[in-house]
Parts: sequence; structure tokens; C-alpha cells
Amino acid sequence: MDISYILNELGEDRSQYFNAVAPPIVQTSNFAFDTFEELRNAFANEDSNFLYSRGNNPTVDILSKKLAALDGAEDALVFNSGASAIYCSVMANIKSGDHIISVQKPYSWATRLFDNILPRFGVQTTYIDGTKIENFENAIRPETTVIYLETPNTLTFELQDLRAVAELAKSRGIITIVDNSYCTPIYQKPHALGIDLSLQSGTKYLGGHSDVLAGVLTGSKEMLKRIFNEQLLNTGSGISPFNAWLILRGLRTLPMRLEHISKSTQKVISYLKNHPKIEKVIFPFDEDFPQLELAHRQMFGACGLFTILLKANSLDQIELFTYSLKHFLVAVSWGGHESLIMPQAAALTPEIFDANNEQHRLARIYIGFEDPDYLIKDFEQALEILI
Ligand SMILES: *Cc1c(COP(=O)(O)O)cnc(C)c1O
Repeated sequence: MDISYILNELGEDRSQYFNAVAPPIVQTSNFAFDTFEELRNAFANEDSNFLYSRGNNPTVDILSKKLAALDGAEDALVFNSGASAIYCSVMANIKSGDHIISVQKPYSWATRLFDNILPRFGVQTTYIDGTKIENFENAIRPETTVIYLETPNTLTFELQDLRAVAELAKSRGIITIVDNSYCTPIYQKPHALGIDLSLQSGTKYLGGHSDVLAGVLTGSKEMLKRIFNEQLLNTGSGISPFNAWLILRGLRTLPMRLEHISKSTQKVISYLKNHPKIEKVIFPFDEDFPQLELAHRQMFGACGLFTILLKANSLDQIELFTYSLKHFLVAVSWGGHESLIMPQAAALTPEIFDANNEQHRLARIYIGFEDPDYLIKDFEQALEILI
């Protein structure tokens, strides 16, 4: 399906709302019925009817049609955060006694689900280095029901070979879930490679302006109907009409934002790679990236997140450098208009900081919509601070 059609037309029936160009925010909790038959039908199939906005809502429905098509999936569910998309997709596919295989260091709230919540219900998780397919194979047990992936991850950018993992999982009857937040469906299409469920934090690139939280889950109609009925309705974690409207607005410009950010990020990286105060740049499309071949094989692009290894010998130095940057905000998250920096050292105390530990000198950078030369100049003056 043509991406221009998906972003501009699909799901939009303007004759239903005064030929308004922008779809309405249908800000209602409730829907009324003219006949018992219609009401009965809505009870039986809440996912495809408008009964109550904890389930489906017309503004949300337009958005989910577009998101399913973007991913080349049969269906999509839209959540009020990426974290709830993670929670619901995992919970829907496990029962007591089951086993999960997860890539090491997945998104922090996936880790908390696996480590803090699921063990209470008899579900164990094994973390593996996902860069090697043998590691998945060796970790599989008779009771493994879910393989949880995140490719690339958003600090060190390790990749998993989605086609190979999907093939292995299918042959053993295991469900695969991937966090595709970094690439979005514009730069990676997990379903085409055989993955069962693809999720994203819509808070990042889909919204794109740091003003809305959202989560997306795509997959087969059958699987998503079950997740809708069991998980989304029970947790009340569907997106609100207004937030769905903001994501719809963000989607219109998604391809051009990613294109701009990809280009400016490359330019900033080229500058940083040659800087004497930077030991290393970690980025999936960098020529020194260990999994570059795989990155080119399964990703159509790489965006605005990368990590630098600073040459620094104290935590103070890293803090001074960080706050010498005038155009980078120190903040979590990413995917918006504004450039960001998040040094790993920010989580440490001076006593714990060890300059010999590379992990302590990593800083994640996010490039927003700013002109790359404007950001390079900022780096130029801030890097003077380091020895
Ligand atoms: C932000 C993020 C999430 C969680 O999304 P929220 O919308 O913040 O709940 C999940 N995965 C990745 C990779 C993220 O960056």
C-alpha cells in the first residue's frame, strides 16, 4: 500500500464529519443504540463497534487503521503508552509455569515486568545476548512461550536477526514480540520478516513533538482481538481520543521528519567521529558498527539516536561537559523536535564512577530538528571542557 495513501487518506471518511479536512476528536465516553440488535452486536464484537471508549472510539479507529497498514499487519491496537503495549502483549501470551527468552537489557519497564512482576506468577525470564542466533536456540525450554526482542536497543544498538529468530520461534511454536520503537515501520518491517507482534512507543517518533504518550501493537486480527478483549479492556490502557488525534497529526509528517533527522544525524556523527575527545561513536549505520551488514539487511534507515564514548577522567568533567552544551536538554526519552543528551554517569555517584569502565563514560545523544551545523558548533565548544 502506498505510504502517501496510508498517511493522507486511509481510514478517513470526511463525509461523516462535515467534509472537515482534519478528523474530529470524538470526545465521548459512551455511544447510544437505536435497536437491541445493534447493541447486541456491539457487545459481541466490541473491537469493531463503538460501544464505550475504553474499547474502541472513532478517532482511535482512524489511527489504528493507518498504523496497521504502515506495519503491513492485519490489525493494530493503540495504547496510552509504549509500556502498556509491552505489558499487554506479554501478559496475553503467558501462563503460570511458562518461560520467556528476552534480549539482554531490553527497555527498562520490560525488565521490571520480567524481573519484578512475572516471577510472582511463576513465569521465568532468561536474558541472552541476541546478536547470536545460537543463544536463542540454546535458551529454549519445553515451556518457552515468548521470545522478546528489541532491535536495535536504544543505548548500545545491538541488533537481532529478525528473520532468523522468527524462523526458529515458528518451528518451536513460540510467539515473537519485537520492540520496533527505534526504527518505526518506516525503517523496519518486522512482520515481513515473520515476527508475530511488533510494538512501538508512539511517544517517540510517531508523536514526534514530545507532547503525547502512546503505544502501538500490530499483528494478526485473531491475536489482537484476544489482546483487546483480555488485556486492553481489562487494564483500561487504550489511548484517549485527544492523544490519538495528536498521533494522527504526527503521522502526517513522520517520513519527512525521519529523513531530515537521518541526514543531520549522519553529519553530526561524521564530526564527532573525528574529534580527539571522543573515543567511539556507536550507531547502527556507522561503518565501524559490528553488525553493519545485518543493519543494512533488515533496516531501511537509522535515525537520530546514537551513543558516544567520552574521553573523561571524572564524573565532574562529564557533568561540566553535559551542561556546557547549550542546545541539548538533559532528559530521558527521545523522538521529539529537541536534541537531548543522557550520560550514563548521571545515574552514578562520584565514589562509584570509574573512568576505566567504558559504560560509565557513555552518553546517549538524540538529534532533533535543529540544523546540524548549529549542533556541531555547540559540541565544538563543549568538548573543549574535556581534557
Ligand atoms: C520509550 C520507550 C518505550 C516505552 O514507551 P512509553 O511510551 O514511554 O511508555 C519502550 N521501548 C523503547 C525502546 C522506548 O524508547
